[in-house]
Amino acid sequence: AKRNGGNRFCFHDAAAARAASERLELGHALRAAREQGELALLFQPIVALPGGQLLGAEALLRWDHPSRGRLAPDQFIGVAEANGTIVDIGAWVIAEACRCAVRWNALASMPLRVSVNVSARQFVMNDVAQTVREALAATGCAAGWLTVEITESLLLEDSFPVRRSLEDLSRMGVAIAIDDFGTGYSSMSYLGKFPIDMLKIDRSFVRDVDGDAKMRALVKAIVSVAGALSLEVVAEGIETQAQADTLVELGCGKAQGYLFGRPMPGASFSESLELAMH
Ligand code: C2E
Ligand code: CA
Ligand code: CA
Ligand code: CA
Repeated sequence: AKRNGGNRFCFHDAAAARAASERLELGHALRAAREQGELALLFQPIVALPGGQLLGAEALLRWDHPSRGRLAPDQFIGVAEANGTIVDIGAWVIAEACRCAVRWNALASMPLRVSVNVSARQFVMNDVAQTVREALAATGCAAGWLTVEITESLLLEDSFPVRRSLEDLSRMGVAIAIDDFGTGYSSMSYLGKFPIDMLKIDRSFVRDVDGDAKMRALVKAIVSVAGALSLEVVAEGIETQAQADTLVELGCGKAQGYLFGRPMPGASFSESLELAMH
């Protein structure tokens, strides 16, 4: 038992209780959020290196909470996973991303791909491949315009339903990317076992890539593994020209980060696309 005074113990108890009730409240509000139009997607450009040609965008979720303002995913995805609303929200994210992909591919001369983040909980609670199939059919989006981003942790257990979902997606022609590559605890053996198309190098590798020889060696190794397995590589979180130049030297073919564009509303993305086409 704790010996450091009753008051302090009570304080922690009260703080924990308040945090729990806030989560509960957030969870209730989240159930209505989608129907009330409080969810929004921002789109961050993904470009080719070198040259910066636009290849597509990653969809990033926001919640415009009526009293708390705009919330980032880290502030509510956990709650959505805990109370199951992530299934409904995730289906909306996929459908909305497909609608945008259709709009943008009507404007572009090259195929543009939209990436969506799908958490491990979503694969466990929901048939993600079926959700994607329905969204493609409802929107007229080509499977080749969609990428699903997953994390290494999803592949850790090698469960049959997860494997089947990924194989279904892959057979449909939807690309599968490993997000935050290199930050998980898993071995790389899954790269040979699952239908993976793309590695996204986490920002933690990119941050010091221009100044730190070890980081350069790690990125070079990732690019080499990707090359050997014919996987695409996207470097995430590029903020400076020096980082971009170093990544080009290391052979990284695609990039995403504030240097190339901040996450922006779909309408802004459409506008910049129209400008680029004229
Ligand atoms: P992520 O997939 O690794 O997304 C990249 C995050 O890095 C985004 O934060 C993005 O705004 C930020 N970022 C991009 N470029 C830069 C840069 O140059 N510098 C810095 N400092 N940051 C950069 P965001 O939008 O807050 O998303 C956080 C995480 O939330 C995402 O990480 C993803 O794991 C999750 N997430 C986002 N949208 C969804 C969604 O629709 N469903 C699910 N399940 N998770 C989502
Ligand atoms: Ca991502
Ligand atoms: Ca990432
Ligand atoms: Ca992340």
